[in-house]
Amino acid sequence: MTNALEAAQLAKNYNNHIALHPLELQIPPGQIFCLLGQNGAGKTTTINLFLGFIEPSSGQALINGVNVAKNTDITRQAVAYIPEVVHLYGNLTGVENLDFFNRLAGFRFSPKELKAFLLKAGLQEEAHEKKLGGYSKGMRQKVGIAIALAKNASVILMDEPTSGLDPKATLEFNAICRELSDQGKTILMATHDIFNATSLGHRIGIMRDGHLKHIVDASGITAEGLQQLYFESIG
Ligand code: ATP
Repeated sequence: MTNALEAAQLAKNYNNHIALHPLELQIPPGQIFCLLGQNGAGKTTTINLFLGFIEPSSGQALINGVNVAKNTDITRQAVAYIPEVVHLYGNLTGVENLDFFNRLAGFRFSPKELKAFLLKAGLQEEAHEKKLGGYSKGMRQKVGIAIALAKNASVILMDEPTSGLDPKATLEFNAICRELSDQGKTILMATHDIFNATSLGHRIGIMRDGHLKHIVDASGITAEGLQQLYFESIG
């Protein structure tokens, strides 16, 4: 089976600074992989390489077996990106934002279909026609998920998507991530939340100074165990 995400000796330098040492990583379809690590550990660099936002210094980032750097147009179609803050238009409604971003990506949906995506992403109906300016961070993240759903992305890359969300919003976000995973979508998520990583992730990686120091199965470790491993790893 082709991995949804694969890093093959994937590395990134900025001048003399090594942001990512040669990384080997395989993530099969449907898996939720959480990346932990201190600020500057290389999590965002890894995600940006898979997004094709930056070019590797050596090695390859592959999505569904396709080399991102050489086929960015193809791989971007397979991928959705949810950053820490999903940038949307405050003076447009949830439905209008979703419609706008779909059109940018070359898709058109009826208002009924747009609302169905928002509902599936967990955004309650009464919010659909309200302006984004009044949305909470959790509601904005849900519009981000709706954009990913409408795009039918097989891979979703997330950079600290739950940072700043309250516990209830985080739980709701997790539930949607699990549903996506059950549907065979693959999630790579950078996070600082050790406890959430153990409850949501199937596997968890711990990065330090551009190295992936550990990969653990969430089923084989408690949150306390992961916390201990994390602090040992970062030294
Ligand atoms: P955070 O948790 O703060 O988001 P991170 O684990 O995502 O951290 P990266 O943003 O990947 O870390 O950064 C890895 C290293 O690469 C850091 O030392 C950072 O300073 C460096 N770096 C990242 N982007 C650039 C850039 N454009 N130019 C130079 N150095 C960079």
